[in-house]
Amino acid sequence: MKLGKYSIGIGDRFARQGKAQLNAIIKAKELGVEITPVWNKSFREHQVVKSNPLSTRKEADDAVKLMNWQHSYFVDADHVGLKNIDFFIDCSDLFTLDVADFIGQKAETKDIQSFVEKYEKYAGNLKIPGIEEEFQISEKEIKQIAEKYLFAVQEAGKTFRHILTKKDKDTFVVEVSMDETVSPQTPVELLFILAAIAEQKIPVQTIAPKFTGRFNKGVDYVGDLEQFAKEFEQDVAIINFATKKFNLPENLKLSVHSGSDKFSIYRPIKNVLKKFNAGVHLKTAGTTWLEELIGLAEAGGNGLEIAKEIYIGAFSRYDELEKPYAAVIDIDSSKLPEPDEVKTWDGKTYADTLRHDQSHELYNSNFRQLLHVAYKVAAEMGETYLSALKKNEEIVAKNVTENIFERHLKLLFL
Ligand SMILES: [Zn+2]
Repeated sequence: MKLGKYSIGIGDRFARQGKAQLNAIIKAKELGVEITPVWNKSFREHQVVKSNPLSTRKEADDAVKLMNWQHSYFVDADHVGLKNIDFFIDCSDLFTLDVADFIGQKAETKDIQSFVEKYEKYAGNLKIPGIEEEFQISEKEIKQIAEKYLFAVQEAGKTFRHILTKKDKDTFVVEVSMDETVSPQTPVELLFILAAIAEQKIPVQTIAPKFTGRFNKGVDYVGDLEQFAKEFEQDVAIINFATKKFNLPENLKLSVHSGSDKFSIYRPIKNVLKKFNAGVHLKTAGTTWLEELIGLAEAGGNGLEIAKEIYIGAFSRYDELEKPYAAVIDIDSSKLPEPDEVKTWDGKTYADTLRHDQSHELYNSNFRQLLHVAYKVAAEMGETYLSALKKNEEIVAKNVTENIFERHLKLLFL
């Protein structure tokens, strides 16, 4: 089973927008670019919404059937490890093995030693095709990288082999992620991480490193654009090199997590993809649910009331909602509108404040980020929320499709 050159992870917290999401991908296909849709939902999201992976599977299958999508698609068990893999195993055909928690734990000395012995031939000046500058790598550095990452990759190997006890190896795709950690991985680290993955015989098709800069949920990239572009290019070159040297799947590509709305890096990414004829997986951060709120607000009436109620609820539960996401959001709470003010808003004001159009005078990234993590409030509303979505299906779907197509696919892939 092979993941296509271009793919997008379309997280959908409430599993109601499968058709509208797929519609954006169909629009791209009509313009000549095939992008593989991947419905991803993490263990945390399932817990908060009290859903299970069967609903994600059903959403994807139903959308594909109803929209007559004839190409491949996947259901991603997002950020899983041995402790929660069984929850996903039957319904998923893409597994994002998350090893971030194990970075820094040391593997057994003999494992580190044999890894270093095998790969010390890369010490010295290393020229990677496609990039000008040479990497200077010392044996000591290889050992340090092994000490930092080998154990984590061994954990991914364990999870992978656990999947193999239940599923045939040709029936699923593997991604390895290490993005949810503090410090970015350098291109040189990535090289040896890939070597370690090959040692574990994990047929990795996408890898999600932590890149330089901040990838806050649902808002634009914050960081040094030039540095990012350079690192991204080096990572792609390293992947090409490692694929050949370590006999990894030839379609191995980078995965950009929390990739939605990182508008300012789409151009640099696109340039690198073009230069190397490389693919990419863009995993969005579940911002589809914000489009649901925008749609409800625009619908007015009861839809707008629900959208306001969710914000007011989120405002009063700031600490609780912010906490699990503290590392990946940056809210200036002094810039959050007061509930009493929001109560007076019309639908357009709400939508314009939330929609990710940075050129709009009303756009407020603090408002947006708080709502991004506030899906728990909507989940607690249960049927009230879900039936409002159903009632206003058309206007919600319009926003969902437009967001993915106009603000994401168009900029990155077309
Ligand atoms: Zn991630």
